[in-house]
Amino acid sequence: MSKSEVRYQDVSSTELNSRAANLCKVTLVPDEAHPEDIVVQGCPQCGHETTWSEPVIVVRGIDIDVTGDLARVLLDGFRDAGSPINKRDVTVRCQCNHPHPGAPKGVMGCGRWWSLKVGWGN
Ligand SMILES: [Zn+2]
Ligand SMILES: [Zn+2]
Repeated sequence: MSKSEVRYQDVSSTELNSRAANLCKVTLVPDEAHPEDIVVQGCPQCGHETTWSEPVIVVRGIDIDVTGDLARVLLDGFRDAGSPINKRDVTVRCQCNHPHPGAPKGVMGCGRWWSLKVGWGN
């Protein structure tokens, strides 16, 4: 079965999570010592190129992304307080540029989503 024929399904599974742990490329931007964004690449289901990026700091309930200077100030604050942020669970959804059979109109990606445990530094 070619990867373009993966049927769209809005699902996740523990099996997909573990495949993602092996397959997905995780990058901390700008670097591991002072990460501001977590970038995850690759879809473990359809194998297409897809890039997911989310800020290290997510302010829940408020629809803003904290990046740049503000993120740096907050991260330094946590570090000074003795509780550095050095891990995150990231939920990633496939956003590849391929229409998959069965996908809702206008929706790209195979619909799969998965969780990754991302850790860095110490
Ligand atoms: Zn795909
Ligand atoms: Zn996919």
